[in-house]
Amino acid sequence: MAAMMAALRGPVARFRLRTWAWTRRTRGAANAVGGQQQGFDLLVIGGGSGGLACAKEAAQLGRKVAVADYVEPSPRGTRWGLGGTCVNVGCIPKKLMHQAALLGDMIKDAHHYGWEVAQPIQHSWKKMAEAVQNHVKSLNWGHRVQLQDRKVKYFNIKASFVNKHTVQGVDKGGKVTLLSADHIVIATGGRPRYPIQIKGAMEYGITSDDIFWLKESPGKTLVVGASYVALECAGFLTGIGLDTTVMMRSIPLRGFDQQMSSLITEHMESHGTQFLKGCVPSLIKKLPTGQLQVTWEDHASGKEDTDTFDTVLWAIGKDAASYTYTSSRKLAELNSLQQGSSPSFPAPPGSSTLPAPK
Ligand SMILES: Cc1cc2nc3c(=O)[nH]c(=O)nc-3n(C[C@H](O)[C@H](O)[C@H](O)COP(=O)(O)OP(=O)(O)OC[C@H]3O[C@@H](n4cnc5c(N)ncnc54)[C@H](O)[C@@H]3O)c2cc1C
Repeated sequence: MAAMMAALRGPVARFRLRTWAWTRRTRGAANAVGGQQQGFDLLVIGGGSGGLACAKEAAQLGRKVAVADYVEPSPRGTRWGLGGTCVNVGCIPKKLMHQAALLGDMIKDAHHYGWEVAQPIQHSWKKMAEAVQNHVKSLNWGHRVQLQDRKVKYFNIKASFVNKHTVQGVDKGGKVTLLSADHIVIATGGRPRYPIQIKGAMEYGITSDDIFWLKESPGKTLVVGASYVALECAGFLTGIGLDTTVMMRSIPLRGFDQQMSSLITEHMESHGTQFLKGCVPSLIKKLPTGQLQVTWEDHASGKEDTDTFDTVLWAIGKDAASYTYTSSRKLAELNSLQQGSSPSFPAPPGSSTLPAPK
């Protein structure tokens, strides 16, 4: 009995500390647990293009608005700031890298137009990446300022539902914040998928969540997938002079006009991107040199083949970012600790507990 009490003392003390943090750090948190008062008119979960636009518009219309945004680091450990996929690991850095590639093409053409350009021309990934990353960081800051200007409260927390008007957020230090709102918008976007059935895929591969934040050049790259993300990444990697191969299982840009898709892949091929069509990777192995040996099956020939690459980039689709309900039992504990009263919330459907962000 004494041993059990001693074992429990730690967690209970921690729980009390957390309760104190809720009451100090969040407006309306205690009331939210008691179910008496709403903290905000609108709470938006997700600070990407969708969430920020929604929050700013509602604030403009005079509503009391909060945004909860939290970036779960990629399996590689890449993390970024406010603004979501487009700003940090999508449209913006991608367009800047396309611009780098286009400039390279123009420099190659320039001497035909009378420009004296020292040959061979060199490209520094390090310089480009640093400039792109600094630009993205300035946008992160800009988004925070925009929220502040519109009086939208920003919480850097990973949110999960407690009930339909209450959300629990955990920050990177494990501190918990409770927020309540009349309306809650889920704008959590998606994250790139890994083919976890392929040995070495997650351990050694990267995705579009990482490529824009690499400090060093990815070198010889295999892009797996035939989505617009795959083709765009392969396009700018080829454009800045890297040996780039796209491996696709079937057709490029499924769901897009196939005549246009063929024009795109033909154009890419003419600019140096290599394509392995009808091929599916089966194993990624790290060699003592640090390079990655990729084994794949060629469905046309029925044979297995291998090659080595410096980087393997998965661009095989996205999964919706998940969020879960806090268990009703945990909520009951919380309620009685904070209010000294008995639990008053019904059990949410499909209850499960969200782990604290790592
Ligand atoms: C390489 C690439 C290039 C692209 N290029 C273009 C382009 O040129 N044009 C274009 O229109 N689109 C482009 N896109 C698509 C575009 O980026 C997305 O459609 C858009 O960003 C989606 O916005 P969103 O607000 O729905 O989600 P996101 O921008 O993904 O925002 C969701 C946010 O919610 C956060 N979040 C998730 N779960 C939680 C939680 N439980 N608690 C708190 N926060 C959470 C996420 O971390 C993220 O910050 C591109 C995408 C990629 C990957």
